[in-house]
Amino acid sequence: MKNAIAELDGDEMTRVLWKVIKDELLLPFVDLNTEYYDLGLKNRDDSDDKVTYDSAAAIKRLKVGVKCATITSNQARVEEYNLKQLTPSPNGIIRAELDGTVFREPIFVKNIHGTVSCWKKPIVLGRHAYGDIYKNTEIKTPCAGKAELVFTGEDGTVIRKLIKDMPGPGIIQGIHNLDKSIESFARCCMTYALDRKISVWFGAKDTISKTYDGNFKAIFQRVYEQEFKAKVEEAGIEYGLTLIDDAVARVMRSEGGFMWATKNYDGDVMSDMIASACGSLAMMTSVLVSPDGNFEYEASHGTVQKHYYRYLKGEKTSTNPVATIFAWTGALAKRGELDGTSELTDFAKKLEKATLDTIEAGYMTGDIARIASPAPVAVLNSWEFIAKIREALEAML
Ligand code: NAP
Ligand code: MG
Repeated sequence: MKNAIAELDGDEMTRVLWKVIKDELLLPFVDLNTEYYDLGLKNRDDSDDKVTYDSAAAIKRLKVGVKCATITSNQARVEEYNLKQLTPSPNGIIRAELDGTVFREPIFVKNIHGTVSCWKKPIVLGRHAYGDIYKNTEIKTPCAGKAELVFTGEDGTVIRKLIKDMPGPGIIQGIHNLDKSIESFARCCMTYALDRKISVWFGAKDTISKTYDGNFKAIFQRVYEQEFKAKVEEAGIEYGLTLIDDAVARVMRSEGGFMWATKNYDGDVMSDMIASACGSLAMMTSVLVSPDGNFEYEASHGTVQKHYYRYLKGEKTSTNPVATIFAWTGALAKRGELDGTSELTDFAKKLEKATLDTIEAGYMTGDIARIASPAPVAVLNSWEFIAKIREALEAML
C-alpha cells in the first residue's frame, strides 16, 4: 500500500469481527497502511466526539476510509457505558462533514435468491439525506380557517401564498430543501455512477409538484449538463430523469445494474424494499461519497447487539461478516485505483471472490442459511466461516 486509508473502528459484535477479519484475511497478505481512529462509544464520549471529527478530516485528506458499525447512543447506552452525555450519531457527523450521500448495494450470490426474479444485478440506491418531511413543521388545525405559506426574505421580500381556505379542522405541513444540498446530491450521484460505470436515473414527482420537485429536476439537469455530460457520454453510461412512478415501474421489471437516485422519503422506503427483496441486511454494502470524490466504505447493518451479548457469554455466534469484509475490499480497491497499485486492487477483488465462492460452495452463516437454495452444506460460526474464506483466498493467491 502506497498511501494510507482511514480506519474507523467501532462497537460490539462488528468490532469483534473487525479484528478477526484483519488478522485472518488482511494482515497475512497486505502491508496494511491505515490511520487508526477508535470510534468505539466510550472513546467518542471521552473525547467529546473529537475522534469522530478527526476521522472525518482524515477521510477528506486521504480520500478513502473504512468504517466499522458504531452504536448511536440513547439513554440505555448512557447507563450501559457510563457516558458523560448523549453523543450524536457518528454517521450523521461524518456525513455532514463530508457533505456526502450514502449509496447502498446488495451483494449477489447464486444460491441466495431474492424475491424479484428478474433482478440479475444489484441496484445501487442513492438517497438524498437532507430535508423534505425529515425536517418538517406540522400543525393539526383545530377549526375552519385560512392556511397560508409565508416566506420572509433577509432583504425584506415577503412571499405569501394561500394553501387552502379550510372549511373544517385538518392538518398542514411545511417542508423545505436547499439548492446547495440538492446540487451536492446530484454531484455525489454522478460521481459515484461514473466511478462504478453504471447508469443513473433520478425520479421525482414534478408533474404534480412543479416548483418543489421541479427544482430537484432542474438542478439535476443543470449539474449534468454543466459538469458531467461529457464524462458520462465518454464512459458509455446513461443518465435519465424520470417520474418517480415510472422509475418504480422500470426498477421492478429491470435486470438491475444501475443507480437509482431518490429523494429523501423515496430512498427511505425503497432502500428497505430493495434490502428485504435481496435477502439479508448483512449482504448489503454502503458507501458514503462526497461531491469532491472522497469515499467511506462500511456495512449497512448495525453492531449486531444481540449477538454481542451472546458472544460475551462465550458463544461463538454465526454473525455474517460479509458486508464488513466488502467494506474493507471496497476501500482497498479504491486505494489501489487512486495510487495506481494494481496488486492491491487485485487482492481486494480476489478476497471478494473468495468470500462469494465460499458461500456459493455451500458454507455460510445462519442468517443466509435460512434462505439459501440449494440448502447449505454447513452452517458455520463467524470464525469458521472466515477460516473457510481464508482457505479459498490462499488457494487463489
Ligand atoms: P443491527 O445491528 O443491524 O441488527 C439487527 C438484527 O439484524 C440482528 O439482531 C440480527 O438478527 C440481524 N443482523 C444484522 N446484521 C447481521 C449480521 N451481520 N449477521 C447476522 N445477522 C445480522 O441493529 P440493532 O441490533 O438494532 O442495532 C445495534 C446498534 O447498531 C445500535 O446501537 C445502533 O445504533 C447501531 N447501528 C449502527 C449503524 C452503523 O454504524 N452504520 C447502523 C444501524 C444501527 P437476529 O438477532 O435475528 O440474528
Ligand atoms: Mg427506512
